[in-house]
Amino acid sequence: MQTTKSEINISNKNVLYLFRNDLRIHDNEALYLSQFAKTFLPIYIIDEKEDELNQFGFSRISKQRKKIRAHSLLELKSKLNKLGSDLFIFKGNVANIIKDLIITNDTNLLLYQNIEAEEELRHIDDVKKYTSIEICIVNCKSLIVNEDLPFNISNLPSMFTAFRKIVEKNLVVRDTFQHYTQMAQLPTEHIKIHTQIYNIYEDIEEIEIDRRTSVFIKGGEQEGLNRLNYYLFESKKISNYKQTRNELLGPDYSSKFSSYLSYGSLSPRFIYHEIKKYESINGANESTYWLVFELLWRDYFIFLSKKFGNKIFQLHGLDNKYPYENISKEIFLKWSEFNTGNDFIDANMKELYLTGYMSNRGRQNVASYWCKDLKQDWRVGASWFEYLLIDYDVHINWCNWQYIAGIGVDPRADRYFNTAKQAATYDPNNTYRKHWLQ
Ligand SMILES: Cc1cc2nc3c(=O)[nH]c(=O)nc-3n(C[C@H](O)[C@H](O)[C@H](O)COP(=O)(O)OP(=O)(O)OC[C@H]3O[C@@H](n4cnc5c(N)ncnc54)[C@H](O)[C@@H]3O)c2cc1C
Repeated sequence: MQTTKSEINISNKNVLYLFRNDLRIHDNEALYLSQFAKTFLPIYIIDEKEDELNQFGFSRISKQRKKIRAHSLLELKSKLNKLGSDLFIFKGNVANIIKDLIITNDTNLLLYQNIEAEEELRHIDDVKKYTSIEICIVNCKSLIVNEDLPFNISNLPSMFTAFRKIVEKNLVVRDTFQHYTQMAQLPTEHIKIHTQIYNIYEDIEEIEIDRRTSVFIKGGEQEGLNRLNYYLFESKKISNYKQTRNELLGPDYSSKFSSYLSYGSLSPRFIYHEIKKYESINGANESTYWLVFELLWRDYFIFLSKKFGNKIFQLHGLDNKYPYENISKEIFLKWSEFNTGNDFIDANMKELYLTGYMSNRGRQNVASYWCKDLKQDWRVGASWFEYLLIDYDVHINWCNWQYIAGIGVDPRADRYFNTAKQAATYDPNNTYRKHWLQ
């Protein structure tokens, strides 16, 4: 496979690289570039605000997701050490820490993964206000790079199908960035910032995950790569993905790549090229196509967030017509504590609470139930998912919720999931419900 070249000029610069949800060595533009830098300082910053409660009164990140992040960071640190570098992990005010590091290390280039969400954009804006150093985005979140889209983001189609048809006509998925063997040296002054360093081991708590879970995810790049290899080449499960993807129980009915993708332990481009490799050996079919189709959904939501900005978090969504502003504490407790009396909903909500994971079919049903049966403010449901999901992704979560709430890009805004019918179709023998409720 050829390797992608970067358009960013890094030679002879003191570079600060802000890792975000790109916690990997493979297919990493910034790390590829680091070989040309004068000095290269990799950092990760945990926003101090993540410990605050959100506007609806609950936490923003579960202990389990913190633990997965900690494992991913520690593995990355150890891999960077082997390449002669390091990873410095901080916790605090993101913009202030970056500003301090720019001064201390005489930085002239800041590289970072772009996240099109209010808080992450503000961090970078705050840094830009303060400094005139060069600031560049590295392309590593989506399958298709922004610049390769055949239209401007402002002309992004308002329906996924239209988007997919256009991009599929001439799909450009860039090659992955090559591995390198030696990274540029750390700035000698980096010692000065050691006092602010966060002890990431604090986030590794012993948490008991219910043994009925479909996913046991520790987190990290190697585990993600192993899972990819297993799902494609070892088990060939991908060849049946389209038939199994709506099931509810077990580790293999779907890829379970989501948690690795959310912290960037797996690169979507790498997954894509591995699928192409798999197809060349084992043959392509509608299932292998469908996994790429789902990755395009992921991309679509990333681009949608770029086009609509803060609207993805707003009650009235992209087109101003969500009818329910209610937030009933009593109803919320019943829904979140799996006590609605609807066994299909309760089983799914229990799985989420006890494991941090829920199937796509389950997510669609519990979200629809919250919005269209219980008639509540959809943002409360989306925030509950944000708190608990081990694969939480700002774009995918909020845009899917809007879609289900009927205020996003669903061409059928009146779409309604009849949960009794759904249970009869997808859990005909009551197996899933028994698994969780008995
Ligand atoms: C209300 C709601 C909230 C959701 N919140 C999240 C979230 O925070 N994070 C997240 O990763 N997924 C979210 N999803 C999408 C989907 O449910 C999960 O990606 C999927 O269940 C994860 O399991 P998997 O990796 O085995 O998926 P697979 O079926 O194997 O799919 C492969 C990959 O394709 C992408 N994908 C699959 N379905 C979707 C979809 N509907 N939209 C966008 N991308 C998709 C994901 O990256 C996934 O890992 C949400 C869906 C709904 C309905």
